Amino acid sequence: MTGKQSTSTLESRLGGKVVGPDDDRYDAARRVWNGMIDRRPRWIVRCDGAADVIDAVNFARVHQLMVAVRGGGHNVAGSAVCDDGLVIDLSPMKKIDVDPIARTVRAQGGVTWGELDRETQAFGLAAPGGVVSTTGIAGLTLGGGVGWLRRKYGLSCDNLISVDIVTADGALRTASATETSDLFWGIRGGGGNFGVVISFEFQLHPVGPEVMFAGALYPLEQARTVVPCWRDFIRAAPEEVSSQAVFWSVPAVDAFPPHTRGAPVVALVAMHCGSPAEGQRALQPLREFGEPLIDLSGVMPFVQVQQLYDPFLPAGAFNYYWKSLELNGLDDQVLEAVIVAAESRPSPHTLLPIWHHGGAMNRPSARDSAYGDRSAEFLLSIDSTWSDPADNEKNIRWTRALWNDMHRFSSGSLYLNFAGFGEEGQALVQAAYGCDNYKRLVALKNKFDPANLFRLNQNILPTAAAGLPAATAVK
Ligand code: FAD
Repeated sequence: MTGKQSTSTLESRLGGKVVGPDDDRYDAARRVWNGMIDRRPRWIVRCDGAADVIDAVNFARVHQLMVAVRGGGHNVAGSAVCDDGLVIDLSPMKKIDVDPIARTVRAQGGVTWGELDRETQAFGLAAPGGVVSTTGIAGLTLGGGVGWLRRKYGLSCDNLISVDIVTADGALRTASATETSDLFWGIRGGGGNFGVVISFEFQLHPVGPEVMFAGALYPLEQARTVVPCWRDFIRAAPEEVSSQAVFWSVPAVDAFPPHTRGAPVVALVAMHCGSPAEGQRALQPLREFGEPLIDLSGVMPFVQVQQLYDPFLPAGAFNYYWKSLELNGLDDQVLEAVIVAAESRPSPHTLLPIWHHGGAMNRPSARDSAYGDRSAEFLLSIDSTWSDPADNEKNIRWTRALWNDMHRFSSGSLYLNFAGFGEEGQALVQAAYGCDNYKRLVALKNKFDPANLFRLNQNILPTAAAGLPAATAVK
């Protein structure tokens, strides 16, 4: 079948929803959040609902096309787009239905966290999401999902009640604890390996509308004093508190006083999801460990907290290469290594957040969902961010060297939603899931996607495809 005939088959079913290189919408539709990614798919199917997704999946399978699935387009490796193949783009699918009595929400696969928060907060409710509102609920939840509610209510995927998903055979299935429960186990952490999720049903929790946020930015020179205080503080903090220590430089923008712009800092940030008064009391110590250069703390709407990082991580404006590693602990030697790294960042835009875990997110066992072991108390994320493409190699090399060096303090496990470009292939994926869960994921992949149609992700290799490179287009 020629490319032209194939297109007409696809277009006869999907009409103007199919965007090709000659279409005026093509460049906007192939752009993703990471400015480094510049891929040219053959077709982008802008889906409106389950029927479009089923048509696109069947077409891709029959014609053995490389497939990319797009939710919010935030994956750092740019896995929402591919060269030459077919993109199943869910970004037009924005339906959100809140049930305030049952405290649940069903949201389609193109929804972002900002959009979901807006609707759920109208009822004083929230689902645990990420810390940047423009990120898609889809990729984030399927990979786990850590945010400001993680210690009180767990990972995003822990709050899933069910999904509707189109698997590689084109079947639309519901997966939940009682229906296709093996698939439900796999999609909670197993990423986009098993199909295209049409909609997610989440458990909601009462949050806000106002909460206390602490954001004390200390000069980097004070890090050796204030970060050990943070470490002691968070260990004793209630589960309402989710916190990070973020090594960064104050952005050179009007929002910050001129004398602070560009200053290297460590930001002790936290959100308390209980009452504002309780939150103010609980988070006050974070603001008093030294003399903050800037203190952004205050009681504010939960939706505002969810957007605080947005202006500093704009879509397309920067090149991004982010990698992560779980830390065995945070003793003074580990801290010293992070502080030295913070001092040597090649780009002032680069962030080094240390995420504090624990609480509800650590309660499920490693076997309860594909996500796997949650026992690490800290996650180091190396969020390299820069603007000049000429600096690509320098920043990626620095990130990888630091990541390799930090393995001294880690079991080697990581968070697959912050996995760089996944260059380490199967070794990386296996390190993240652990041996037992990985074996179980392979069995599920054999059952639901034996030909590896969905492979532009943190790929679980089905047994039949084990000899093939994971990201090779089959034409
Ligand atoms: P996409 O690039 O659209 O999708 C990523 C992958 O997910 C796809 O390649 C596909 O494999 C799969 N996928 C997407 N949609 C579907 C679907 N409907 N069905 C099946 N598979 C699908 N993570 C956190 O846990 N917490 C954070 O606070 C956080 N903050 C972030 C902030 C920024 C600025 C960025 C860029 C990322 C952040 N992340 C965070 C990481 C984020 O979880 C991943 O990048 C995630 O992949 C983004 O999901 P997406 O839908 O936006 O991305």
